[in-house]
Amino acid sequence: MSGLVAIRGPQGPMLKDPRTNLRGLDHAELTAWVAEQGMPRFRADQIFAWVHARRVGDVAAMTDLSKKDRARLGELASLERLRVDLIAPAADGTRKLRLRTRDDQLLESVLIPNEGRGATLCVSSQIGCALTCAFCATQSLGFRRNLSTWEIVDQVYQAQDLLAADAAAAGEEWPARVTNLVFMGMGEPLHNYNQVRRAIAILTHAKGAAIAGRRITVSSAGLVPAIERFGREGLGLEVGLAISLNATTDATRDRVMPINTRWKIAELMATIRRLPIHRRRWITFEYVLLAGVNDADADADRLAVLLDGLRAQVNVIPFNPHPHAPFERPSNRRIADFVDRCRDLGLHAYTRTPRGDDIGAACGQLALEGELAETA
Ligand code: SF4
Repeated sequence: MSGLVAIRGPQGPMLKDPRTNLRGLDHAELTAWVAEQGMPRFRADQIFAWVHARRVGDVAAMTDLSKKDRARLGELASLERLRVDLIAPAADGTRKLRLRTRDDQLLESVLIPNEGRGATLCVSSQIGCALTCAFCATQSLGFRRNLSTWEIVDQVYQAQDLLAADAAAAGEEWPARVTNLVFMGMGEPLHNYNQVRRAIAILTHAKGAAIAGRRITVSSAGLVPAIERFGREGLGLEVGLAISLNATTDATRDRVMPINTRWKIAELMATIRRLPIHRRRWITFEYVLLAGVNDADADADRLAVLLDGLRAQVNVIPFNPHPHAPFERPSNRRIADFVDRCRDLGLHAYTRTPRGDDIGAACGQLALEGELAETA
């Protein structure tokens, strides 16, 4: 456990707070809520900026609100946050944040420094996951519940607070910012569509954290109806889409990603080809490379056919071995040959270097190891 920073707050579940958590209302919802409470409409702009741009933790800090409105807010609204349970730093600068919810569930997000300034945060959307991808550690938890909007949003603010603390410790005036978000942590984001949609609206709002939509990517294992909705509701024009593909035949994908038994590769690809997406956007296809399962030359050949004509980027992710999956990582030679063959076939293929694999923070490794160890 050396290098881990355990931050233990009060343990045990707390009772649910009946008040509205202001972190979970998008700007339009907050405007309507403020009007319902009989406050002037311009209060919504002020409160939104306090909550999402300045990240205050207490209504009393909202000094441009009247005393009366602050008192009313304190009665009706909460600014509850997740509790930081553990911060695990990896040798490469990646940090895993383990966060605890009010009902004593644990979730994880991963903060990855970018080259230059700024950082990418890998965000969770559910506690556990209902899908059962065979290579993924999260599925070993089963599905516990969806995260609420504020629990998604607060992962970003907890990471931003960590960056602010780094800057303060280094005597720097301007902390690095979370500039990029990837919904690739625990859970299938499109299985929790409404909360993810609302969290994106909050995090991209100009009066709040103002993260650019073009720097946000939502990943899906292939939930076809939700991908159709993603396109229909215009989300594909705002943020990027990544598809966790991981196989080129139905027989292999059925085994590796059982969601494929419901929506086959052909149906998934046809849906993706119909999606309205931003004309400068590329769709990312994630391909976890599993030795002897999906890493043959023939797989690269089929991948090129499947993606033919799409503005697609292929992220080849060499499998990170962990105790929850019966797969092995291909040799470095095989990984390089697979990527070269993809490129020779005209694909934009890259190897994604695993980040944070020494702390169980790399792709497919989020499984609350601490929790499993504690409860074993
Ligand atoms: S890879 Fe994603 S969708 Fe599949 S089980 Fe893991 S968390 Fe769920």
